[in-house]
Parts: sequence; structure tokens; C-alpha cells
Amino acid sequence: MQLPVRSFDAVIVGGGGSGLRTALELSQAELKVAVLSKVFPTRSHTVAAQGGVAASLGNVEEDNWHWHMYDTVKGSDYLGDQDAIEFMCRKANEVVYELEHFGMPFDRLPDGKIYQRPFGGQTRNYGERMVPRSCAAADRTGHAMLHTLYQANLKAHTQFFIEWMALELVRGADGTVLGVTALEMETGEVMMLQAKATVLATGGAGRIYAASTNAFINTGDGLGMAARAGIPLEDMEFWQFHPTGVAGAGVLITEGVRGEGGYLLNKDGERFMERYAPNAKDLASRDVVSRAMATEIKEGRGAGKEADSILLKLDHLGEEVINKRLPGIREIARKFANVDPVKDPIPVVPTCHYQMGGIPTNYNGQVVVPKDGDAETVVEGLYAVGECACVSVHGANRLGTNSLLDLLVFGKAAGEQVIRDLNEDGRLHKSLPKDADALTLQRLARLDGQKNGERVSDVGAEMRRIMQLHCGVFRFPELLAEGVRKLKEVAGRAGRTEIKDKSKTFNTARVEALELDNLIETAVASLVSAEARKESRGSHDRADCPERDDEKWLKHTLWYKDGDRLEYKPVHRKPLSVEPFEPKARVY
Ligand SMILES: Cc1cc2nc3c(=O)[nH]c(=O)nc-3n(C[C@H](O)[C@H](O)[C@H](O)COP(=O)(O)OP(=O)(O)OC[C@H]3O[C@@H](n4cnc5c(N)ncnc54)[C@H](O)[C@@H]3O)c2cc1C
Repeated sequence: MQLPVRSFDAVIVGGGGSGLRTALELSQAELKVAVLSKVFPTRSHTVAAQGGVAASLGNVEEDNWHWHMYDTVKGSDYLGDQDAIEFMCRKANEVVYELEHFGMPFDRLPDGKIYQRPFGGQTRNYGERMVPRSCAAADRTGHAMLHTLYQANLKAHTQFFIEWMALELVRGADGTVLGVTALEMETGEVMMLQAKATVLATGGAGRIYAASTNAFINTGDGLGMAARAGIPLEDMEFWQFHPTGVAGAGVLITEGVRGEGGYLLNKDGERFMERYAPNAKDLASRDVVSRAMATEIKEGRGAGKEADSILLKLDHLGEEVINKRLPGIREIARKFANVDPVKDPIPVVPTCHYQMGGIPTNYNGQVVVPKDGDAETVVEGLYAVGECACVSVHGANRLGTNSLLDLLVFGKAAGEQVIRDLNEDGRLHKSLPKDADALTLQRLARLDGQKNGERVSDVGAEMRRIMQLHCGVFRFPELLAEGVRKLKEVAGRAGRTEIKDKSKTFNTARVEALELDNLIETAVASLVSAEARKESRGSHDRADCPERDDEKWLKHTLWYKDGDRLEYKPVHRKPLSVEPFEPKARVY
């Protein structure tokens, strides 16, 4: 092996909310922990989360975890695993109070308790009406959370590798994961980080779409690394399109705007959500609102010169409420839509926002793969948390504010599991195989040696166009099949890209090329899985099969890179302590 080696108890790839929560648990237990991040940790994409984190604290109105669990199962269109959903909803209050005690500056009610506001699909008494469940720090909740967790990690002596990009997982002969290889982006130095426990926390991969609320760093690196190491990706056909991305810019306008009383209008000034979701209206679940908006536009009732957007009205909330509760939104609207929402509505469109699928894990954050029929086995040494993981609590559609909760609950649970695992077997570092760095060196050598290849940016743009056109809010069988064909062709081209003008090349060009490999793995997994699922469920809406088909399709998809094949596994429909919620028609 050629690469230098450094050894840790745990290596965490990702310094967003989930990675930092796991790291904190481990560092507080005095383990030697390394966190790798492509950007300074507080610039991870969690920083962009606006609306809040869900917990049934009941500070504004009566609430409890059973109602939250029901909403999450229903929101998932019954594809979520009910053991994991119960685990998350029951733990919510504990992890939010814990965060408060780490120093999180939540907004307050006049009595000093944490402020809570309503969010899409979050209801009281099993769908009776909306309930304020989202705990928020104005419209900058993720920013506040990330800074709180980063500071707590500094205090606990977590070691940070900032602007380091993990490249590949290293597996031993028995399949145990032994760490990662990584590139220091500034210098080009490549190193092996050996670990007794490796945690993937690389966030979402929304950059596979042309119009996305996600940051440029959200390139699915953890998914690509897992797929190349022989681990399947679960439920990748389910991508959430957020109803309110700023038209033409993609920047997110939080659902918190509608939680505070804003609503959507078509070009005729009609509050059309009353037709699609008479009860929840603008706070129906995101897949429902996005489809309603796309239908309004398709049927000629879109606003704007091209009749291709919908209007989000909030001026009636008044300048004082907007400045207090939604200051960031006013700023975004002015900068990206050139409107002041105190006076005019914001033009918005459904925009790719969140991946429900990911690396399959159980609710302790351990990565699990199928074994002998319906049974599952743990991949020793490997854990995944946050948006890159599929626990699966979000199933076919995530409810707003449940992701920040997912980061806290499963970030902590994974940390606790790592501690149990290391204590139990007193795990020592297993020796690294001789060829542990082979794949990494091969990938880097290809990039440096390729001649007469295409530009990375051209191939990436083509991939994003294909995903946008062939795998969007509404899906059509011919477009899906054609998309798979085109994407596989683009995947071939991605293997022949060239870094142009090497004399002036900085590592950013190499990084973009390496990221493209991960984006392509993610896009292929998504499109192939979408083409295969012949039903409509949650965010996956097929024109040829408009109904949900529980008999054939109440199951999780697993995509394997090896052989580009699909397998399926059952949904965990049995919760931990309560009766299951049986599938029924999903009406808001
Ligand atoms: C605009 C926006 C608003 C949102 N608002 C809300 C909200 O109000 N409430 C809610 O619940 N959810 C919200 N979400 C969703 C939620 O914010 C995300 O799902 C969540 O923050 C993801 O956290 P994470 O820890 O999984 O990943 P991230 O915060 O994205 O962090 C990923 C980390 O991985 C690192 N990384 C990636 N690849 C590599 C690599 N190869 N090597 C080293 N490091 C790597 C990155 O540098 C980064 O540190 C929002 C999402 C968006 C896009």
C-alpha cells in the first residue's frame, strides 16, 4: 500500500447536523474521533434549513408522539418503517431539549418555552387539524443548530479535517469496513484514515437535478462510496420536490411561510389548494402541494410572463411578523425574485429538495444488507446517518421538519451504537488489506492520465437535464425508459472525462470530476428504481399507474451497482410498542 495511514476510533465523513451529532456523542465518550468535511463544518448544507425541527413538546397546543408518529407514517405513504418512526417520534422531545441545553437559541413564547409553529402534514388527533410542532430559531434553524453542535464538538475535542474529501470506503477480506481514503483539497495529498467505526454523514444528492434547493456540495459522495463498495441503495426513486423554490433561482422559501399563514395563488388570484386539500389546504404534505401546483401550471393557470410559476402571498401577515419570524425569507425574496414580500407575492415553483432514499440502515445507524430472503445482516464497522441514510422514516415522502429531527435522533443513536460495539468486542484495528488503496489510486490516475475526453461540466449538465426531464414531479413510462437509456450513455461518458488544461488545474477541477462519479451513481440508482416501480406512491407519481398498489409495491427497492440490478425488501410494519397504522387512502 502506498498511502500514509492515520488511525482513529471513529471516522465520520460529513460535518453537517448528523455527522456533528454523532461526533459529539463519541467525543464526549473520550473516543478518538475524526470528522472530514469538504467545507468548513458550519457551511454544511444543514445551515440552509429554515423552518424548524419537529417535536411534540405541546408548548402552544396539546400534542403527543402518537399523533406525530401517525402523521409521519401517513406522510410516508405507508412506506416508512414503523419501528424506526416510533423510535424517532418518541425520542424527539429528549433530543430537542438536549440541543437547547447545548445552547441552541430557539425562539421563545412569552412564557419562556420554545416557540412552535405549524408545518405541512403535522396534525393533532390523527389528522383532525394542523398543530404547531416545529421548534424554530426564526427562519434560520439549521444555521443555529450547526453552530451549536460545532461549538459543542470543539469543547469535546473532536478533530476536524476541513476541506478533506473522502474518496472510497476500505473493506477487509471479511467485508468489515476499516476506514476511508481521502484527499486534502488544498494540497492534493491523499491519505488512508483507518477506523474501528466509519460513519457516512455526507448529506443529500439534490445536485443530480438541474433545478434544486441543494448546495453545490450535495453530490451524493457517501452514496457513491457505498455503491462502489458493494452496498445497495434503498428507495432511490423517491425525491421530494419542495413546493416553494424561487422561480428561476431554486433558492428555498420555507414551508414556515405557510405555517405562519402565507398561501398560494394561481394567476386568477384563486387560493387553489382549497380544491386539492380541503382540510389542510396549503399545509398538505409536500408531494400533494407540488403536484397541485404542477397541475395548475400545466392547465394554463400559472402566473408570470411564461405562465410557469405560482404566487406565494404573505403581505397580509404584516411587516412586523415578517421581520420577526421570516427575516431571511424577506432577504431571499428581494435578492433572488426582486420582490418585497411585505408588498408583493413571491413567484415560486416545485424544486428538487430532498432524497428520501439512501444507504440502508436500522434505527441504530448500522448499515444493513439483505441476507437469506427477508433477513438482514449488519455491515461490520459501517454506520450511516442523516440525509444520505435510509432508516427509513420518510418512506415515499418526508414531512417538513422531520429531517432535522432525523439528524438529531439517529445521529445520537448511531453514536451510542458505535460505543456499544467498541465496548462489546473491545475492537482493535484490523489490519488493512495490501490493496486497500488500489481503487483510489486507479481513479486518480485515470483523471490525471485521460486525454481527448469531455469536460466534466458538460457531462454533469447533461445528467442534470436528463433527471429533470425524465424523472420529475410527474413521471411517464416512455420518458422513464428513454431516460434510463440516455443516462447510461452519459455514465459511460463520465468515465472518459478529462481535466482540461492541466497546467492551470487546481484540485477543485479534480474534486468536481470525482464528485461527478458519485452524482452518476446516484442518478442511475434513482432513474432505474423509478422506472421499475409501477405504481404511484408519495413523491413517485406515474401517469400510467396513478394509484398506490399495496399488494405488489408495499416494499423497499434496493439498487446494486454490481450488475445494475434491483432487489426488494419488506417494509417494517410493526412498531416497537404500539399497534401498526394500516395503509389507507391518504387524504389531507
Ligand atoms: C434549503 C433547505 C432547507 C431545509 N429546511 C429544513 C427544515 O427547516 N427542517 C428540516 O427538518 N429539514 C430541512 N431541510 C432538510 C435538512 O436541512 C437536510 O436534510 C439536513 O440538514 C441534512 O443534514 P446532513 O447532516 O445529512 O447533511 P449536510 O448538512 O448536507 O452535511 C453533509 C456534510 O458532508 C460533507 N461531505 C459530503 N461529501 C463528503 C466527502 N466526500 N468527504 C468529506 N465530507 C463530505 C459536507 O462537507 C458536509 O459537511 C432543508 C433542506 C434544504 C436544502
